[in-house]
Amino acid sequence: MDLLNTLVEKGLRRELPTREEALAVLATSDDELLDVVAAAGKVRRQWFGRRVKLNYLVNLKSGLCPEDCSYCSQRLGSKAEILKYTWLKPDEASQAAAAGVAGGAKRVCLVASGRGPTDRDVERVGKTIEAIKEQNEGVEVCACLGLLSDGQAERLREAGADAYNHNLNTSEATYGDITKTHTYADRVDTVQKAHAAGLSACSGLIAGMGETDEDLVDVVYALRELDSDSVPVNFLIPFEGTPLAKEWNLTPQRCLRILAMVRFVCPDVEVRIAGGREVHLRSMQPLALNIANSIFLGDYLTSEGQAARPTWT
Ligand code: SF4
Repeated sequence: MDLLNTLVEKGLRRELPTREEALAVLATSDDELLDVVAAAGKVRRQWFGRRVKLNYLVNLKSGLCPEDCSYCSQRLGSKAEILKYTWLKPDEASQAAAAGVAGGAKRVCLVASGRGPTDRDVERVGKTIEAIKEQNEGVEVCACLGLLSDGQAERLREAGADAYNHNLNTSEATYGDITKTHTYADRVDTVQKAHAAGLSACSGLIAGMGETDEDLVDVVYALRELDSDSVPVNFLIPFEGTPLAKEWNLTPQRCLRILAMVRFVCPDVEVRIAGGREVHLRSMQPLALNIANSIFLGDYLTSEGQAARPTWT
């Protein structure tokens, strides 16, 4: 297929495909799917070999959020039955992180619900980062605390954070449909603040919220433009009690096409399969690792994932 040859050649050169080429990946047929995976796999192996990076989430603070992101079980007014708790203590978070590191995680992601941290929260997370780094040699720490105010990214960097995660989630054109309490521009601003402070920027998307192919291509181009070092690709888990509870519209094949499109647009970037991989990719998860080079171990913020089972050598 000419399209796939072109995409592989561009991916190996880190050249941006055209929007039409990216859209064409999403429009491929099921008969072409294994060729799409193989082509994306060539690009993946050029930049990352065969390695899979493992990441582990520690939910520092759960639920009780004043924001209204319609995909989120922790949103204002959510009826989803989830755990709700306020900040874990540094030692508790460090113990949780150690479980992930023992399972093979290279990066620990510290997540807190909420619009964004207060300066006191940043100080608290700084102590948590110090505790984790002291007790787990060589581990990378990524903070994910919401929208950042001036100076907070710098303070997290000083405390030892390596990265900051803040997802764009969907295209600028549809952002207002999924959240009313903050804007797409607010999100871009936080990713830029993290970058400017010397933190590795981690920013990704959520597929399956009713978006069009154009929306998906738009958000992935925006992520490349922002120079995100890692791109988590979430597949919506439609939680009961949230406005998107009925949005079950992804198939494993669609998820593979989305991952392939992300790989072609962001060839040398860590593409991470994030929330929803178990329920949406199902038995095609191993195929997806031909495209993505990074996954989460264990549980997500408010849903269960797969535990690490170190049966391989
Ligand atoms: S995504 Fe974050 S900011 Fe939005 S409702 Fe959920 S916890 Fe709050």
